[in-house]
Amino acid sequence: MTKIKFHYGDDVPLEMHKVRIVQKLNLLPIEERAKAMDEAGYNTFLLQNRDVFMDMLTDSGVNAMSDNQQAAMMNADDSYAGSATFTRLESKLEELFGTEYFLPTHQGRASENIISQAYVKKDTIIPMNYHFTTSKAHITLNGGKIEEIYIDEALHLTSDHPFKGNMDIDKLKNLIDKHGADKISYVRLEAGTNLIGGQPHSVENIREAKKVCDEHGLMLVYDASLLADNLHLIKQREAACADMSIREITREITDQCDIIYFSARKLGSARGGGISTKHKDVYMKLREYITLYEGFLTYGGMSVREMEALTVGLEETMDEDVISQGPNFIKHMTKQFQEKNVPVITPPGGLGCHLNAMDFVDHLSQEEYPAGALAAAIYIISGVRGMERGTMSEARQEDGTETLSHMELVRLAMPRRVFTLSQTTYAVDRIAWLYENRELIGGLEFEEEPDVLRFFFGRLKATSDWPEKLVAKFREDFGDSL
Ligand SMILES: *Cc1c(COP(=O)(O)O)cnc(C)c1O
Repeated sequence: MTKIKFHYGDDVPLEMHKVRIVQKLNLLPIEERAKAMDEAGYNTFLLQNRDVFMDMLTDSGVNAMSDNQQAAMMNADDSYAGSATFTRLESKLEELFGTEYFLPTHQGRASENIISQAYVKKDTIIPMNYHFTTSKAHITLNGGKIEEIYIDEALHLTSDHPFKGNMDIDKLKNLIDKHGADKISYVRLEAGTNLIGGQPHSVENIREAKKVCDEHGLMLVYDASLLADNLHLIKQREAACADMSIREITREITDQCDIIYFSARKLGSARGGGISTKHKDVYMKLREYITLYEGFLTYGGMSVREMEALTVGLEETMDEDVISQGPNFIKHMTKQFQEKNVPVITPPGGLGCHLNAMDFVDHLSQEEYPAGALAAAIYIISGVRGMERGTMSEARQEDGTETLSHMELVRLAMPRRVFTLSQTTYAVDRIAWLYENRELIGGLEFEEEPDVLRFFFGRLKATSDWPEKLVAKFREDFGDSL
């Protein structure tokens, strides 16, 4: 990557693109934001986008597309079977991943549904570096059990370990020795480990994992949804890869995988998803499920326009200027938070900036959903919508007790090429103010609690009148500012 140095002042991440289409944003007065949060049951998923200033909920399906992606969408071949659009996408994946076979799906979790139905046997174990919500749900639904074999540093919120997403290879060996390879359906490795803060794995780590899998006849299944960030961070942090191109690093990774699946809402900044493999038998087994659950083999629930956007988006993922934008903004935002002593996960990863709610609101217990409360407070004081990633995102145990999450995080996702640096500076400014006034943030409790994936639709209420107190303090300090 061209490293741009500034002569006056500190280096800031410089956008290697220009904005040619814009969308008007709305910033409501704080009183209206507090009302909107209350009406949304203190669950940021239930806010209306028109009430949101910066939508940092997720990077899923909201990354900015390029002009070339938009242009390609106009040139799509609409046919149920044998579409030229599909062939272009399949060829691009073969070129980049070395996988002869591709099965399209409507999004990442659809790929997980199919892989789990095909390969997860009842009472087997699926070792993985860390779970993702939908990955775990599909494996559990099919009677499997996940075992997270992350390295010890993975859960150290402040660290300088470059690859907190690595799988602990000794734990993998021990797990196989303990249960026997026949009790393991496959080994799953996730790129840019989502739930621990978008943390990458190294090329060395996936090579070692593959070696152990090969020794025991196990498949390595790779969740490549957040591959783009991981590629950039490997190039930055893994000495052996510093002189390799992104294309070469991609092949180093994908050559180790038996099945690669992804959400194209993230990878390739498009929509849809899919499963790639070099093995014909895997392809033959999985393809029956595609026609059953997704659609015919040449569209799998995606529109031809999405497929064209994905083909171009995958090629653009090989461009360092493109994939560095997200992680560079995240790095910058993390640094700004650190300068203001706001507790934030380090080292910065991909996907977004992650606030450590356990420290931010250390006067709240995990049963009061500190990350959920912090996400609600952030929206009220700034109009920035983040996502709770903590106890609220877990399911209760069978006896009704809470499953306390390892971490209580508020994720401020950084959709690629969507926000400007002044907008991120605004978010940091407001959140730093909130940190100074953190004792005003109170807890939440459920009013309506769904049994499955409660964090999506659950409605909560404040356990006291703390939102009103927060609004009053804001008015005191910010006057009539929005
Ligand atoms: C988003 C995501 C998924 C699921 O993809 P969807 O397209 O949202 O269904 C799976 N794995 C990881 C790592 C993800 O980040």
